[in-house]
Amino acid sequence: MTKLPAVRQEQILAWLQKEKRITIETLAERLGVSIMTIHRDLDVLALAGQVEKVRGAAQISTRGIIGETAHQCSLCSMPVPLRTSFIINTTSGEKVYGCCPHCGLLLLERHPDTTLVLTRDFLYGRMVNAGDAYYLIDSDIAVCCAPSVLCFAGERDAQRFQQGFGGNVLDFEFARAHLISRHRGSE
Ligand SMILES: [Zn+2]
Ligand SMILES: [Zn+2]
Repeated sequence: MTKLPAVRQEQILAWLQKEKRITIETLAERLGVSIMTIHRDLDVLALAGQVEKVRGAAQISTRGIIGETAHQCSLCSMPVPLRTSFIINTTSGEKVYGCCPHCGLLLLERHPDTTLVLTRDFLYGRMVNAGDAYYLIDSDIAVCCAPSVLCFAGERDAQRFQQGFGGNVLDFEFARAHLISRHRGSE
């Protein structure tokens, strides 16, 4: 069977939730794909903090990187994950939360008067100034909203993820403009 990476990854997660640990060979057999493909799927899931690779097998991540904050996304109302949180500090002292840079960049349209806009570097987990960051849009790493938008403090890091997982690297202004035009197009 031929399946899109995202569909395979969801299937892998569903199996792992039931069976705890599955060898990479078994996953390759079940899905009818190569060991290499399974490794790549597991790398995506590992980067998203959902799965760990252990001695030729995969298991659900026990480290809980996918923790949620107590906040709700002001755009889509989803709980804001720690991993991708986006925080807009407005000039009136209000804090507006986005679940990920996708929603965060769109929320900036509603809140143009900001003092500080922070988001989390997807690779290192540090909070960074959103205006100085780079954004990987449309990669295979689907951690939150679609289109997937991941933030990196360094352009090189963003490009490295792009090589592995596809998509386009844009700076803050371009990423923002790109998302706004797509969002409008989908309405
Ligand atoms: Zn959202
Ligand atoms: Zn999101």
